Amino acid sequence: MEAEEQQQPQETNFYLELPKVELHAHLNGSISSKTMKKLIAEKPDLKIHDQMTVIDKGKKRTLEECFQMFRIIHQLTTSPEDILMVTKDVIKEFADDGVKYLELRSTPRGENTTGMTKKTYVESILAGIRQSKQENLDIDVRYLVTIDRRGGPSEAKETIKLAEEFFLSTEDTVLGLDFSGDPTVGQAKDFLEPFLEAKRAGLKLALHLSEIPNREKETQILLDLLPDRIGHGTFLNSSEEGSLDLVNFVRQHRIPLELCLTSNIKSQTVPSYDQHHFGFWHSIAHPSVICASLFPETQQY
Ligand code: 5GP
Repeated sequence: MEAEEQQQPQETNFYLELPKVELHAHLNGSISSKTMKKLIAEKPDLKIHDQMTVIDKGKKRTLEECFQMFRIIHQLTTSPEDILMVTKDVIKEFADDGVKYLELRSTPRGENTTGMTKKTYVESILAGIRQSKQENLDIDVRYLVTIDRRGGPSEAKETIKLAEEFFLSTEDTVLGLDFSGDPTVGQAKDFLEPFLEAKRAGLKLALHLSEIPNREKETQILLDLLPDRIGHGTFLNSSEEGSLDLVNFVRQHRIPLELCLTSNIKSQTVPSYDQHHFGFWHSIAHPSVICASLFPETQQY
């Protein structure tokens, strides 16, 4: 039975009060239904309803359906004001959930309809972080700038330039890069040059890798960059040929993993909690951190 069906109120309080770190929170994947309702009400013409933007308790979607859902959510967050509101709400909700250190990650997006640029997108997130601090919320928030695989290397270069600019001007708020987006799209090797440049500039790298099976070559290419953290790494330890080398590499370099249990179950890349790769990495005492990744209301910490 899934943990979410078993939880007692006493346990919920314990998990709420437990001080936590959250290192893998995609901004547009962390919008609560309360905030989503506000966004939907602002854009009635889109005719988007709640069910199109959440995965309800006990429900699942395929990874492909999750990416389709993000496309719908992105239609609702199209202006700097939307991004500011979403950032502040998400931070407040993580703080209310007992998270003391939060790294948000998000893909800078330009929108012709509202005049939002990638730069004003980033500025809105940073304003949200700043304003939350001024409101004395008990949470320390940083930002990883996301490179979406879908954008390809030229967009990656542009985004990395922006990240470098804010890395230098924000004093430890912009820490580095996240690499994510649909793992079936694009080739990791095309991003090597921009990522090496980012490393040289001092940006940290948190890279989604091995989220789908049979990607050993691509995984090794990304691992050779010696990322600071790995997102998911779902199939690193699968029995496919070559995976032993990958596991050894990750162990040897002590690259920590961000493990998002509920997210993996909901997007069906892992069939059940007892088959989750957390068990493997925990059994060899490898540095790993349990993360939410998606939809705080449906998560267990
Ligand atoms: P945003 O960057 O717009 O704030 O957050 C949503 C984006 O995060 C999605 O469009 C997608 O590119 C990325 N994302 C969210 N969850 C996952 C995941 O589980 N795997 C990958 N590869 N990307 C994800």
